[in-house]
Amino acid sequence: MKKSTKVLSAILVGLAILPVLSDTLLAQSDDEFQAARDRMVAWQLKGRDITDDRVLSAMARVPRHRFVPEFLAPLAYEDHPLPIGSEQTISQPYIVALMTQWAGVKAGDKVLEVGTGSGYQAAILAELTDKVYTIELRPELAQAADGRLKALGYGRVKVKCGDGYQGWPEEAPFAAILVTAAASQVPPALTAQLMEGGRLIIPLGPPGGFQTMALFRKINGKLKEENRLPVSFVPLVEPR
Ligand code: SAH
Repeated sequence: MKKSTKVLSAILVGLAILPVLSDTLLAQSDDEFQAARDRMVAWQLKGRDITDDRVLSAMARVPRHRFVPEFLAPLAYEDHPLPIGSEQTISQPYIVALMTQWAGVKAGDKVLEVGTGSGYQAAILAELTDKVYTIELRPELAQAADGRLKALGYGRVKVKCGDGYQGWPEEAPFAAILVTAAASQVPPALTAQLMEGGRLIIPLGPPGGFQTMALFRKINGKLKEENRLPVSFVPLVEPR
């Protein structure tokens, strides 16, 4: 075979296998994403201690692969956190589901999330109530999450760019508050903005060190711890 013919046939073979490769390795169809999501719900959530049907259906509906950078979409339904840019991460699906289950959100409840990140946790909450408020410190993340939530039909979620350590006093009180970054202590403003009987979920502990995700209930104006779990979160930016 002449050299030029060999080159040409190599190119043709390459072109022929490209669609096969991209089908198996790169592109995934909506059906394949749904199947991966259903497996995630069955194995990672029901297989552990997520028992709340409303939380399970929310996790089965929200397209997590649309909340991560496109090149990571094929990994969106795996059992781990993923980077979302600006050195931040979207939590492992199980942790999102557990925080949501602990929050015990009912339809019509007003809920605050501190640390919007990708907007994924906010979308999960929006499946449970139409009053979701979320605050993100980093403008580029807040803007991207707002656009993404609108594009995916979660336009009722209110996204604010600002310091979540101060909460959202104009919208208080909240039936539940979820902090999705690790803090050294419970921000006092969040306790104040929690409704009596309301639930606050927050990872506490030093950045990069051992942290505990705690569930508190507000009883007679004071926080009472009801549950805890060892976790690892990116740090909450706190006042110095
Ligand atoms: N819940 C997100 C992931 C959160 S990562 C999701 O579902 O994708 C933690 C986020 O908290 C980061 O985006 C970080 O920028 C934000 N953050 C850190 N300190 C903050 C503060 N003081 N106020 C608001 N957001 C803060």
